[in-house]
Amino acid sequence: MSKKGLLLCVCQGTCPSFKAMDVFEVLNTVRREKLVDWVGLHPQLCSDDGEKYLIDLLKGADIDELYVAGCDPTMQRKMYRDAFESAGFNKENHIGIEIRNMNTEQAVNAIKDAIKRQ
Ligand code: SF4
Repeated sequence: MSKKGLLLCVCQGTCPSFKAMDVFEVLNTVRREKLVDWVGLHPQLCSDDGEKYLIDLLKGADIDELYVAGCDPTMQRKMYRDAFESAGFNKENHIGIEIRNMNTEQAVNAIKDAIKRQ
């Protein structure tokens, strides 16, 4: 069985793109429905300490599918590339999900759709 994790990344929580959603309710819904094995929230994965966090999280970790709900998946791929390389994490196992400018229900549905597609 594959090990799945979900991180929410929210531009420090100050960006208007995330104002319409309750990020904790998004995470709680995914937890309650057991759609992944674990969930987490980081304010800014594209910062230096966010990169270090990703490296520490992923190095040697048993994760088959890392979902990151936040900004555009193409942007995510570029911004996390060095962290994935440093951690030895297969970038193909990263699934980015765009949730900016969504409300709570829309964000949950976008995450569910991405998980279903895998
Ligand atoms: S990785 Fe994307 S969602 Fe996260 S802080 Fe950077 S721009 Fe925002």
